[in-house]
Amino acid sequence: MVPVLAGDLGFPVRRIFCVGRNYADHAREMGANDQAEGREPPFFFSKPGDAVVAGAGEIAVRYPPATANLHHEVEMVLALGAGGANVPAAQALAMIFGYAVGLDLTRRDLQAAAKAKGHPWDMGKGFDQSAVCGAITPVAACGHPAAGRIWLTVNGELRQDGNLAAMMWTVPEIIAQLSTLVRLEAGDLIYTGTPAGVGAIVPGDVLEGGVDGVGYLQARIVD
Ligand code: MN
Repeated sequence: MVPVLAGDLGFPVRRIFCVGRNYADHAREMGANDQAEGREPPFFFSKPGDAVVAGAGEIAVRYPPATANLHHEVEMVLALGAGGANVPAAQALAMIFGYAVGLDLTRRDLQAAAKAKGHPWDMGKGFDQSAVCGAITPVAACGHPAAGRIWLTVNGELRQDGNLAAMMWTVPEIIAQLSTLVRLEAGDLIYTGTPAGVGAIVPGDVLEGGVDGVGYLQARIVD
């Protein structure tokens, strides 16, 4: 359950989908070499629905096992209030219940090893408590933000500082594309990608993130 801002409803999470490489500056820092290619089709990966760890206040996140390189990725999260398959982009926004600030936590060492061998990313991306999510702000309160600052600090130091307007695939396009692959349903969360500046975090670190007009998230990494 993800707490909903300014309300007493919880949000029962069904599935968690994530978009890979949706900001060009992050794609470049991850080694993509596509500047002449234009935008490639979006690609998606999943986390288990119970990988979510959520709260309206400070969220305690256990440092996961089997990694020496846990990375933060601050992302805007879509919380779907309705489902559909093959949804036209023009109808996609109507499916969104609200928006939140989230962290797509990544065991970067495991992900890099998987990439190198052509193996699945699951153990690098879909571990316990890997989907951190702040309170959901209903659309009625925030509208549908298409631009605005998205940022993250670690122990007060600015690490990520981007803008939603730099997303290669917009929110309606993400929903439209994803809904050609799976039927989306109410309760699904979609993490929409991270801007540049991802990096390592360790136990004791305090992370604060925000998306202008959407919300705020605070998390502490604990042993
Ligand atoms: Mn991500």
